[in-house]
Amino acid sequence: MNLLATLESTQQIIAYATADGRTTQGGGFDMTYLFVIGGMMLLSWMVSATLKRRFTEYSKIPMPLTGAEVAEKMLRENGINDVRVISTPGHLTDHYDPLSKTVNLSEPVYHMASVAAAAVAAHECGHAVQHQKAYKWLTFRSKMVPAVSFASQVQQYLMMAFIFGMFYTGSVWMLWAMVGTLAVITGFSLVTLPVEFDASRRAMVWMERAGLAGRMENDRAKNALFWAAMTYVVGALGALAQLGYWVMILLSRRD
Ligand SMILES: [Zn+2]
Repeated sequence: MNLLATLESTQQIIAYATADGRTTQGGGFDMTYLFVIGGMMLLSWMVSATLKRRFTEYSKIPMPLTGAEVAEKMLRENGINDVRVISTPGHLTDHYDPLSKTVNLSEPVYHMASVAAAAVAAHECGHAVQHQKAYKWLTFRSKMVPAVSFASQVQQYLMMAFIFGMFYTGSVWMLWAMVGTLAVITGFSLVTLPVEFDASRRAMVWMERAGLAGRMENDRAKNALFWAAMTYVVGALGALAQLGYWVMILLSRRD
């Protein structure tokens, strides 16, 4: 999964949420909400800062194979021969593409022989293994994609209307549209969690069995993947907070 996109969407959710808090007349509720959003922003900042720090640190611990070699080896040892490993521009742009059946590794991960690169490469191959084995949460997540892109589009228009003052919290149908689209988006971020944790689990099981490096390197790789997974947890919490906020507005309007 694309880490950068997740981080960006988390920040976007938080930015929107903060804009909401300023402009909505929700009585005493807004303070609680701003408190929650403030906490989410702090948490998001802490997790991404820790992730960046750990990745920088683990990029300096050498491994015998480059990210690309790790990926090729893990795919082969899992009996996967129809997935290609390619290099993609950018930083933190690593992802598995089930349509083209490619493991896309960012340039530093592709070329570097470090613990950080190995962890990322093995994680993306974990998604390829999930795809091959038709892992139920990955299949479910893929089926949600069309609904999620529709919901995200509608939601962007609603948010824009809201920010420019064309959205009225008194309009029940607009509130329902907001809650409905946010529910789909939140559901998607929740379904992403087992997919991400499982890909990392597969990566670590394989790395330990392959014996590429010692226990220290494997522990560091596990730690890097843990912090990467935490960004998805924060993303899901942000989406839940946002959904909760709009559900409460809807409930208070309908009283
Ligand atoms: Zn992933």
